[in-house]
Amino acid sequence: MPFPMLEINTHKIRENTKIMVNECHKRGIEVAGVSKVFSGNRKIIEALIDGGIDILADSRIENLIRYRNYNIPKMLLRIPMKSQAKMVVKYSDIALVSEIQTIKELDKYAMKENKIYKVILMIDLGDLREGIFFKNETEILDAVEEILELNWIEFYGIGTNLSCYGGVIPTNDNLSKLVEIKKKLEKTFNIDIKTISGGNSGTISLFKNNDIPKEINQLRLGASLALGIGLNDEPIEGLHNDTVKLIAEIVEVKKKPSVPVGEIGLDAFGRKPFFEDKGIRKRAICAIGKQDINPEHLSPYDNKITVLGASSDHLILDITESDENYKVGDKVEFKVTYGGLLSLMTSKYVYKKII
Ligand SMILES: *Cc1c(COP(=O)(O)O)cnc(C)c1O
Repeated sequence: MPFPMLEINTHKIRENTKIMVNECHKRGIEVAGVSKVFSGNRKIIEALIDGGIDILADSRIENLIRYRNYNIPKMLLRIPMKSQAKMVVKYSDIALVSEIQTIKELDKYAMKENKIYKVILMIDLGDLREGIFFKNETEILDAVEEILELNWIEFYGIGTNLSCYGGVIPTNDNLSKLVEIKKKLEKTFNIDIKTISGGNSGTISLFKNNDIPKEINQLRLGASLALGIGLNDEPIEGLHNDTVKLIAEIVEVKKKPSVPVGEIGLDAFGRKPFFEDKGIRKRAICAIGKQDINPEHLSPYDNKITVLGASSDHLILDITESDENYKVGDKVEFKVTYGGLLSLMTSKYVYKKII
């Protein structure tokens, strides 16, 4: 078997999906299942679809093109590039948007494709990633007015994204602002707004105390389905957290000092490293590196191993405290974060084993 290997358990991902879809549907919320960490891997995407998601959502149009034969509405998560408008209209049904010039470009190609294309206008509630800033009411009203004038664009709803760039926590308070905006728009333009897309897996944290405004009727879920985690990467009760496992092979085991010998300059990534003197330690090198994953994004299942660091192709572990007598050729297993999973899936040097 080839290593490093990423083992992905699609049964567990399907179960996570079923559970979350059920929890959301109970509350009148539709689920856009977010596939962006899976790098277009069809077997995993089929687990999301089997799990009952209502919409398949990805941030890259290239992935949605791969999914064109799945009979399910497709959503583009990242604000579309103007230069990709044609592909976006052809290979997806809904996009999250924030720029009127891009929406007009979508309208142009929707006419050529003879297809009504849906958009969700993003409102930035303070996280400072995409969307019109919530306090700029005139900008929001102007954008909606222009969208409503377009013949081939359906104004499908408004949405927001939190806990991504700024780390802003979703609350009843900030999501209520989105609801207020919806009501204002409905009144001003005498329309019904179908969808309020209330965020990502972080918003699930509001389910517990029934804190989610009842008007929120869509969530875009990635991390919760993939890894069973939500706000602050904390595990969500009842979901599997062990859906993926990274397995790397040891290529060297040696006793060495814990502080480098010689004058210290910059490391391979241009940083000045710092070392604590713990005397002579038993170390292992695994054949995986920063080209595949940032070492901060993995943690060994053997919790007596410490990750010391990595260069592009070498992962360095302190195995002194472990009860196992690791030898060259042995395998070490790791848990990975959402960010870690994203980069492992993207690395062509990591073999994927789909269970
Ligand atoms: C990635 C992404 C999501 C999914 O976020 P998770 O935290 O993985 O649930 C939702 N919406 C947008 C716009 C995204 O980019």
